[in-house]
Amino acid sequence: MVDIPAPVREILEILETAGHRAWCVGGCVRDALLGRPPEDWDVTTAARPEEIMALFGDRAVPTGLRHGTVTVRTAAGGVEVTTLRRDGTYRDHRRPESVEFTDSLEEDLRRRDFTVNAMAMDLAGDLHDPLGGRADLAAGILRCVGDPDRRFDEDALRILRGLRFTAQLGLAVDPDTAAAIHRNRALLGDIAPERIWTELKKLVTGDRAAEVLRAYPDVIGVFWPEVLPMVGFDQRNRHHCYDVWEHTLHALAAVRPETELRLTLLLHDIGKPNCFTADEKGQGHFYGHPAESARLAGEMLSRLRADSATRETVIRLVAWHDKNIPRTRPGVAHALAALGEQDLRRLLAVKRADNLAQAPDYRFMQGEIDKAEAILDQLLAEGACVSLGQLGVTGRDLLALGLSGPAVGQALRALLDAVMDGDLPNERQALLAAVRGQRAETLSAG
Ligand code: ATP
Ligand code: MG
Repeated sequence: MVDIPAPVREILEILETAGHRAWCVGGCVRDALLGRPPEDWDVTTAARPEEIMALFGDRAVPTGLRHGTVTVRTAAGGVEVTTLRRDGTYRDHRRPESVEFTDSLEEDLRRRDFTVNAMAMDLAGDLHDPLGGRADLAAGILRCVGDPDRRFDEDALRILRGLRFTAQLGLAVDPDTAAAIHRNRALLGDIAPERIWTELKKLVTGDRAAEVLRAYPDVIGVFWPEVLPMVGFDQRNRHHCYDVWEHTLHALAAVRPETELRLTLLLHDIGKPNCFTADEKGQGHFYGHPAESARLAGEMLSRLRADSATRETVIRLVAWHDKNIPRTRPGVAHALAALGEQDLRRLLAVKRADNLAQAPDYRFMQGEIDKAEAILDQLLAEGACVSLGQLGVTGRDLLALGLSGPAVGQALRALLDAVMDGDLPNERQALLAAVRGQRAETLSAG
């Protein structure tokens, strides 16, 4: 039995009491059967949108009336309540042009993408599953509702949704569905980049993301063709036992499922094929590849209209991923000053994963990374000075000493460097004395 949360039960009760049949439907039923907490609960009902609006009054927000959707506000967030519908004609491999309302739950379930997403559950806890979703879920199979070619032709986003459900839920794609995914992949070219971005984020953070990417690089290549040259690219380099794509997938699988980290690992070597040279011994080198990879990553993320915070973080981590691990207090302090705690911790996670995906003889950097993390923890615990704001003197102090113009900023930055390097204590008197001494030197030299 699945526990429907109280606010959702209340919505079902209000609808049923008013004489309209109502069910929980789609992803929430699937997740509840799997014992995963659903992202959101959706309700479908025979009630028409205007009836839903009237029943829920102030709490009803008409978020998609044209498609029969009303959002009902509850203590636990908004619940989408949608009138049973069948889809009208599709155009351009995108969402349907029109929808028609129906009284048939089965018709509504038939318009849904995959059998595991096409189940409904009523207040009594009875499952309505005319398409065999429960059996597929139990067998771990992702299967289109109806003819896969037709369903992907109607709405090509389903191709990518299928891969992300596979990555998130660890399902195996039914062979007919899998063949149709490959066959119809080019239709994804008609899908709005924002919709692709939403699904791609869920795909890369799935537990089985690496397996899915390994099996479907051709699909990713429709919107990110830059990925394709990585596949099978021989590195000819003793640090590596895998080609660039296999290395990428091993590294991606080795970081926790956070969007920024997974995307960084997916793109960290994207520029390698453009930077390859072989030396006289036939060994491969990739001079300047982090900068090239960061450039391509930025272009690829912009193309999907990624939010700028995610984009900037990924570009930065890709650009930094091949730098040496800082091993000293000054080294870690400078990295912390440049990246901030969150991105420095992410960078260390990226380096850990990248190193774990190298040839077995070269996986010895883990200890170095542990050390860098220990130094970072210590610096943070001490409240060590890594920014101008934490410095024991201010610009005003330096003006009082007779400095002016850009010299003030330069002197502050030089003091910060000296403090981070351990050459000066972060104490007002010592810092002022250092500036006075410096000035005396400059004056006598001048
Ligand atoms: P999540 O856990 O990410 O919310 P979900 O399966 O609930 O996954 P939603 O996008 O919330 O996905 O959609 C809810 C339901 O609507 C799906 O389970 C599916 O039944 C149906 N659906 C959504 N998008 C499509 C689509 N493009 N084509 C057909 N049915 C769809
Ligand atoms: Mg959902």
